[in-house]
Amino acid sequence: MTLEDDAREYHRESPPGKLEISTTKPTNTQRDLSLAYSPGVAAPCRDIADDETLAYEYTAKENLVGVVSNGSAVLGLGDIGAQASKPVMEGKGVLFKRFADIDVFDVELDLEETEAFVQAVAAMEPTFGGINLEDIQAPQCFQIEERLREEMSIPVFHDDQHGTAIISGAALLNAVDIVGKDLSELEVTFAGAGAAATATARFYVSLGIPHENITMCDIDGILSDSRAEAGNLDEYTEPFSRGVSDGDLEDAMAGADVFVGLSVGGIVSQEMVRSMADDPIIFAMANPDPEISYEEAKNARDDMVIMATGRSDFPNQVNNVLGFPFIFRGALDVRATEINEEMKRAAAEALANLAREDVPDAVVKAYGDDPLQFGPDYLIPKPLDQRVLYEVTPAVAKAAMESGAARRERDLDVYREELEA
Ligand code: NAP
Ligand code: MG
Repeated sequence: MTLEDDAREYHRESPPGKLEISTTKPTNTQRDLSLAYSPGVAAPCRDIADDETLAYEYTAKENLVGVVSNGSAVLGLGDIGAQASKPVMEGKGVLFKRFADIDVFDVELDLEETEAFVQAVAAMEPTFGGINLEDIQAPQCFQIEERLREEMSIPVFHDDQHGTAIISGAALLNAVDIVGKDLSELEVTFAGAGAAATATARFYVSLGIPHENITMCDIDGILSDSRAEAGNLDEYTEPFSRGVSDGDLEDAMAGADVFVGLSVGGIVSQEMVRSMADDPIIFAMANPDPEISYEEAKNARDDMVIMATGRSDFPNQVNNVLGFPFIFRGALDVRATEINEEMKRAAAEALANLAREDVPDAVVKAYGDDPLQFGPDYLIPKPLDQRVLYEVTPAVAKAAMESGAARRERDLDVYREELEA
């Protein structure tokens, strides 16, 4: 049996799919049913009609996230449409549940047009505590997220943009420390100027990389000022154009301290790695094949090469599951109105700090007994490490409270104990 056959069988086995709804209150007697539904249910309805915030007390809203897609940029599969994206969105629901006990309704909208999509999602605000936008193509994903963040007063978070930014940002904080450089002096080259790359570049600026030190390349090469003037760039890529001469990725990588690949596999050579500055940091995150393989990058030169990829079979997997479950958990638990920059930074910093702690034996065993110790090959924690929940979640909740995004204050010590219980 191939993995593909196994996956078909996994999904097909009765009941089809991977999720179901279950009830959380007694439903055994006539009286139970008249509390759950008519006539008893009228009481909480009337209360919510008087005070909408009571929806958080009387309904599942607080623990419910909408994973919403139109299927226009699904995994490595491209624009496969809403229906075909459903296994992925249900899978995202599985991860939310498994890692942070968050319930998900996956919502696949057969809507290609931006404004129609925005209206449909905005109208779902009463249902959800938060919206995870998923697998929507650039540049539409930027417009949709911007508009929904304005219109909605619950968190709206496009994971393909910000998840990657936050997890790789955590890896960057530690990598920079290991090579003894300073964020404010790094020259950073990006391959890719799409959803993940532009969001990651913006987040790195918020972590302390000078905007003017970022060089970004798309398939046509460096985003230069001359390309901007020629009207070649859009409003999302134009801010990253640089006053440098036109050139290709090879030119952009020469002398760079950090390479961030969010493009396509196999476009970086060992020669290009050799042209980088001392102890280069290389995050080659194209999936499934990175811009350059772990071995090729490591073997390209004799000084330290710090390497991360999107793959689970090499060290430093930049895996979004390290972020979204815990970021949403923290946001929901304080009934946040948004996931803002402070909350994203808090998540990255908590992940970076956790990687510096000793790793429990159970976690080491779950990953096949390779030593997991802070250093070039262990920059970020592993997803199956329970401590990610205990550290990242309260850090996000705290940042929400401090930045004014929380509707509900929590005592952080009590909250931490609840999470660990
Ligand atoms: P996207 O919006 O389609 O962006 C892809 C970008 O790559 C575009 O800017 C494209 O340029 C550029 N590109 C294509 N070929 C190139 C080349 N030969 N040289 C330089 N740039 C090139 O896709 P995305 O969602 O941002 O994802 C990009 C990649 O990152 C994918 O491989 C995805 O799997 C990976 N990714 C990994 C993680 C992770 O590891 N956790 C998370 C998110 C994404 P044009 O616009 O000029 O075509
Ligand atoms: Mg995705």
